[in-house]
Amino acid sequence: MKYALVTGGSRGIGRSICLELAKAGYAIIINFVSNENAANETKKLVEEFGVKAELLKFDVADKDATDMALIEWAEGHPDDYIAVLINNAGIRQDTLMIFMQNEQWDSVINTNLNSFFYVTRRVLKDMLSKRFGRIINIVSLSGIKGLPGQANYSAAKAGVIGATKALAQEVGARKVTVNAVAPGFIDTDMTKDMDEKALKTMIPVGRFGTPEEVAALVGFLASEQAGYITGEVISINGGLYT
Ligand code: NDP
Repeated sequence: MKYALVTGGSRGIGRSICLELAKAGYAIIINFVSNENAANETKKLVEEFGVKAELLKFDVADKDATDMALIEWAEGHPDDYIAVLINNAGIRQDTLMIFMQNEQWDSVINTNLNSFFYVTRRVLKDMLSKRFGRIINIVSLSGIKGLPGQANYSAAKAGVIGATKALAQEVGARKVTVNAVAPGFIDTDMTKDMDEKALKTMIPVGRFGTPEEVAALVGFLASEQAGYITGEVISINGGLYT
């Protein structure tokens, strides 16, 4: 069976991506770190599409926990493989650089950037040997433009963009594509502390985006038709150009 693994699939953009890929017929592995209720809700919604949904709880910032979860999953699924990987889990911890603590730098880099390496290396081998794979990394406008108060987050997302471009060149010949999707402001828990009214005035489309809009783009990049798109960073930001 072909699976799609969505890190941070319990809520927000990740949940919508789980549903989009379920609609495309993939069995879904929903990763999350703490929010059991939200993960179970995503599972229920995925199952409504008539596909399999499995919860896989691990901290993507923890190398050993990630290894253990993915190795165990592979051992329990000798006939299946993860054909689609969405590196979506992420956090922000905003503060001006002058006030930034080690912990704020480290946790944002570990969760948003190092996680890309920890998770991707464990699913890549099967994609290469099966000669089909889709890796889609959720980055951010912040990683392209840089945003004040987000030196840690901008650095992490820019790092993932660099890795996306490098890996795309390593694996293209095996029909594995690697792309990044860079949202602007999307209506999720992550943005609920922001001043939406003020920010909206800067966005040409005049509103925050929805998780479903991001998921539709990811769904296309994951499809067979998108096989000639690789190493790209695709913005989805209502015209809020950098
Ligand atoms: P949410 O805060 O709504 O959801 C975050 C998700 O990531 C949850 O499922 C959470 O799991 C999971 N997660 C967080 N830390 C870890 C971890 N260490 N290990 C495993 N899972 C983890 O975020 P969004 O949906 O808004 O964001 C999704 C992605 O999109 C992120 O990478 C974010 O940086 C990016 N993005 C978001 C934008 C926005 O405006 N919302 C804009 C640009 C980029 P749990 O439920 O267990 O806590």
